[in-house]
Amino acid sequence: MEKYNVSVISGVNEVETLEFEKKSPVGRQVLVKVEYCAICTLEQRVFSGVMKRYPFAGGHEISGIIESAGDDVTSVKPGDKVAVRMLNSCGECYYCKSGHENQCVVSFKASVHEGLLGPGGFSEYMLLDAINVYKMAEDVDLAHAALAEPLACCVHSINNAQINLGDDVVVVGVGIMGAFHIQLAKLKGARVIACEIDEGRLEVARKMGADILINSGKEDAVARVKELTDGRGADAVFCTVASTSLASDSIEMTGKLGRAVMYTSFHPDNPVEISVNKIHSSEMIITGAVNPKMSDFLIASRLISNKTIDLSELISETVSLGSISKGFKTALKPDSYRVLVTGK
Ligand SMILES: [Zn+2]
Ligand SMILES: [Zn+2]
Repeated sequence: MEKYNVSVISGVNEVETLEFEKKSPVGRQVLVKVEYCAICTLEQRVFSGVMKRYPFAGGHEISGIIESAGDDVTSVKPGDKVAVRMLNSCGECYYCKSGHENQCVVSFKASVHEGLLGPGGFSEYMLLDAINVYKMAEDVDLAHAALAEPLACCVHSINNAQINLGDDVVVVGVGIMGAFHIQLAKLKGARVIACEIDEGRLEVARKMGADILINSGKEDAVARVKELTDGRGADAVFCTVASTSLASDSIEMTGKLGRAVMYTSFHPDNPVEISVNKIHSSEMIITGAVNPKMSDFLIASRLISNKTIDLSELISETVSLGSISKGFKTALKPDSYRVLVTGK
């Protein structure tokens, strides 16, 4: 019988390759030949030992080609390029039924490779339900299609901020998520202010279309945002950096009726002090953004297929499945954008 390889994080700074039996899709299943899978923060945290859960089959930012499809699949056929949404939702719980499947109470329990915990994108093949694949344009670069998942997370975040034409939007941090937020906020018709301490990343922000750059290591970002908005503060602020002091600054620079979005998760989760009177009197909204809904993923897949979003600056390196450790090391460097692993 035919076998395929899966790369698994087996301990702190350790990976191993496991073999699994290749199966044929039945019913509504598809067999995807993985082309690219990007290394996300979750996998970096497991590899470096910040989150200890071993063995862990990481990899949830995936693109590939349909190799074969079950008889009941209607949306894709062999040879189609696809992006994969690995966040499974049960369809049964309160949140799934109310159209908020990203808040599903049982999500992320997926086990694609028999008996292995984790989404399992660092592999040569994946047997998936067709509901989880999104058909991409024929001429799409599959390296770009692998970034549909992180882009979809940002689409969800942008939607939560309810941006209007002409709004002043601040993006705190210009990692890949900040870069996506800048591009999406521009598409929504906002004036975008990017805050970042790294000059190289500020240059990326400029390329992504940011109108105003603030080096928050050199100037007081809160004061500068207030000055740029005639003292009002911004209409929407996205905190994409896992620093609770920046979360606090993000709330501080949000104006009346503004929306502050805690895009990132925070480790450690230190509490911040906020003025509840400011929230009372300004009617500001403090919200978050966690995981994309199916509709967000569909939008992201279209934005990439249509080449509306520029992804070329955001891929730092591509490594083979066999040299994934090297990829993790690059991904953990603070100046890296996404590192892709090829399923070849
Ligand atoms: Zn991700
Ligand atoms: Zn559910």
